[in-house]
Amino acid sequence: MLEQLKQDVLQANLDLVRHGLVTLTWGNVSGIDRGSGRIVIKPSGVAYEALTPKDMVVVDLQGKTVEGALHPSTDTPAHLCLYNACPLIGGITHTHSPYATMFAQACREIPCLGTTHADQFNGPVPLARFLSANEVQDGYEANMGRVIVERFQGLDWQSFPGVLLAGHAPFTWGKNAAEAVLHAVALERIAHMACGTLQLNPQISGLPSHILAKHYRRKHGPGAYYGQSKNKPSSIKE
Ligand SMILES: [Zn+2]
Repeated sequence: MLEQLKQDVLQANLDLVRHGLVTLTWGNVSGIDRGSGRIVIKPSGVAYEALTPKDMVVVDLQGKTVEGALHPSTDTPAHLCLYNACPLIGGITHTHSPYATMFAQACREIPCLGTTHADQFNGPVPLARFLSANEVQDGYEANMGRVIVERFQGLDWQSFPGVLLAGHAPFTWGKNAAEAVLHAVALERIAHMACGTLQLNPQISGLPSHILAKHYRRKHGPGAYYGQSKNKPSSIKE
């Protein structure tokens, strides 16, 4: 079942390691097949170098394992919550990549300080709140997803392809597992640069909104013209 998706999700998990975003086993990637409503996710606590496609676990949108001998990642309920909240999400990552995690631990959104950030996020990287004692005690991992969904009320999931969970670490998403990984890489680099920028100039007020809007719209939405799209106007020079 879903052999290509298992291969894609395995590769995405290995790419997290290749990009230096994972220490030990502190990270996971999943992908969904919307047609069948099945999600493929990394098994819990297995060393990356030992993973094979058949180790990938298939669960349904309620979290029931439908294929696989291993337990799915303990963070699976958080992934499910996001898949259920936004039908456009096709892949999700969770890492403890250091700079993004530093912002999460500092309980700070990542302000948009430059065009590198604006190319990926249409504003500050949002911060979801701490979980309450009750939310930790009962359904902890599902509640991680719920506070992210709560934070995204009024926010567009595509314009903000990631979030910081207060005191914890980032989640990112995309149209598939590979794109979710790209967003995890970009988020870590954005966080790294923001950290250095704030050290060099703690008073910096951020990228002017007209430059932020220009950079985001160059790459995203109906007027996007960055890259090699067939619709790219021939007059564009880069
Ligand atoms: Zn975590």
